[in-house]
This record gives sequence, C-alpha cells and structure tokens, in this order.
Amino acid sequence: MIKFLDLQQLNLGYQEQFQEKMKLVLDKGWFILGDEVKSFETNFANYCGSKHCIGVGNGLDALVLIFKTYIQLGKLQKGDEVIVPANTYIASILAILQADLVPVLVEPKLETYNINPDLIEEKITSKTKAILLVHLYGQLCEMDEIIAIGYKHDLLIIEDAAQAHGLIFKGSHTRAFSFYPGKNLGALGDGGAITTNDDELARVLFSLRNYGSEKKYHNEFVGINSRLDELQAAFLNVKLPNLDADNDKRRSIAKRYLSEIKSDKIVLPTWDFSNNHVFHLFVVRTENRQNLQDYLLKNGIETVIHYPIPPHKQKAFPEWNNLSFPITEKIHDEVLSLPISPIMTDDEVSIVISILNKY
Ligand SMILES: *Cc1c(COP(=O)(O)O)cnc(C)c1O
Repeated sequence: MIKFLDLQQLNLGYQEQFQEKMKLVLDKGWFILGDEVKSFETNFANYCGSKHCIGVGNGLDALVLIFKTYIQLGKLQKGDEVIVPANTYIASILAILQADLVPVLVEPKLETYNINPDLIEEKITSKTKAILLVHLYGQLCEMDEIIAIGYKHDLLIIEDAAQAHGLIFKGSHTRAFSFYPGKNLGALGDGGAITTNDDELARVLFSLRNYGSEKKYHNEFVGINSRLDELQAAFLNVKLPNLDADNDKRRSIAKRYLSEIKSDKIVLPTWDFSNNHVFHLFVVRTENRQNLQDYLLKNGIETVIHYPIPPHKQKAFPEWNNLSFPITEKIHDEVLSLPISPIMTDDEVSIVISILNKY
C-alpha cells in the first residue's frame, strides 16, 4: 500500500531528537512561552527572511490574529470586505468571519488553482480594504498583478501561507503559517505562526496571542489565548533544518509526475517554473474522479480530495449556497491529490506513475 502521506514513518526519522528535546523541556520545567518558542520564533523568522515571527496555536488563529491586529491598529474596521479565493480551505474564510469582516469570494484560475487576478477588480467596492491571498497547494499566486491592484486600490495584502513553507515570497506582507502535522513543516499536534516586517503589528500580535498582555496580569488589549506550545516549538526546531531538503524532494517527485504521467484522462497541474512551488500537494484533475480514486485504491495507492465541497456550498453558509462559481465548482468536482512526501521512495513514485499510465 502506498500511503497518501505516512506521518508515522516521516516522524519516526526524528524519534531520537524528539526524545532529547522532550527531556530538555521536562528538565527545565518551563512549559508555556519558554526558550523553545523563543528560539523557534528566531529560527523561523530568519528562515523566512522576515523581521518578526510570532508563534501561535494554529494556522486559523494566525489568520484571525492578523485581522484582529489590523482592526486594533485602525487599519481595518468591522464590516470591511476582504477579497479571498472561492476555492480556498475553509479556514481562510472562517478567519475573516471571526474578525467580523466580510469575505468576498473570487474565482481561481483552473490551471493554477490560485486566485485569478483578472477577476479581482470587479469585486472591489468602497468597503473593500484587504486581499487574503492563499498560495494553494504550495504554488505562489500571481504576485505582480495582485500587488499592482492592491497598490491602486489601497488594499492590505495578507497571505495565507499555511501550505507554502519554504516558498520564495514576493513583497513584505504579513503571512500566516500552520504547523498542522500534514503540512510541509508539521508539528506533532497543532501549531501556527505569523511572520511580519511591521514592528507595530508584531508588538500587538505578541500581546493579542497572550490575553492582550505583555506584562503578566496587565492587559493592554482584548486578546485571546493562542500561543505556540513549548513542546511543539521544540519539535519544530528539530524539523526546520530539513525543510529545504524536504521541499527539494517534493519538487523532484512533482517533476517526475509531470514528465512521466501520460494519460488523456488526467489533467496535470501547471507549474510556472519562475516560482519554487513547494508542492504541499500534487493535485490532478479528472472527469470521473470516483472511478480514478477507486482504481488507484484497488491498485494499492491512497489518494485524498482537497477539497470535495467548495466553501460556498457548505451547510455552514446557507446564504451562499445559491451563488455560482463555475470554476471553483469544477475544481471541487474533479481534483484528486496523489501521494507526495519527503519520505516517498523512487520505486513508489514509479509505481504510481505506471499504474496511472495504465488507467
Ligand atoms: C491548514 C490550513 C489552514 C489552517 O491551519 P490549522 O493549523 O489547521 O488551523 C489555513 N489555511 C490553509 C490554506 C490551510 O491549508
């Protein structure tokens, strides 16, 4: 059986280092916002080439906290509209709603699965104040076009980089990361972070994630409790040095899939080589998806659908259910994610390719 992502195997490789770190944390006896969180924040900021990194509880909170901080600083107001791709993972949209802002959905491009810059301006109103970009599946959005639109309409640009650790970004925007175990940099539980070059934003973020308090029992803001866990930070410190090599491995698997899968029934993803796509997922499209997924499973290959239902068709949003986003709906009907991970062997990749080519 070729697993979609063998998390057990992936993390077993770090077992000894994890155990050493656990002992270190136990010996110190400091469990919240200790040395491991501090050093991870420094390490990840350096890795991303950003001035600040703020460790938080998960990727959703990272996004919520960015919006809440902009509201705190008066750069956004409740009720402002935020442009967001219609085919994103639900967390991007929930974050906008949790901050009392209004998501405005924009169709993606079928080829890249990322927001279509040509369709953004028609959705801009006097209430539009921000764009939340999502580098879906690990590929950079069309930044030049989007930055130009943001500049023209005076919009904040915020990036959901939960699937894009290690991507070479463009511009100095504030970004949200998730360390959910299956992400390119994954913890052994929940975790998240924000990177930013904005000193004032960082100051408020450090406070808001910790009850709005910088000094214990002195509350400057109405904050929340969403801190990166000390043990998770310790595990992330172990794994971060391997992230670039892991992403290289993902890209090399993607290159093989792109050049060796040859089937009229399968549409391969488009990779604009001017970006270093980190292939969080390798997503193909096919008309009869169930058929392909069953065929692969019968042949010992596990696949996953990211994602089966678009946000506007979810039961949670009855007010959107009648909206029409044909590209988004087509994507959600047809996508299938093939196995890709840093621990996949060349033989496993060959098997996936040869079975697909016999479909
Ligand atoms: C995983 C993910 C999130 C949320 O991360 P959590 O840590 O699970 O809260 C947000 N946005 C995108 C695009 C994601 O893939």
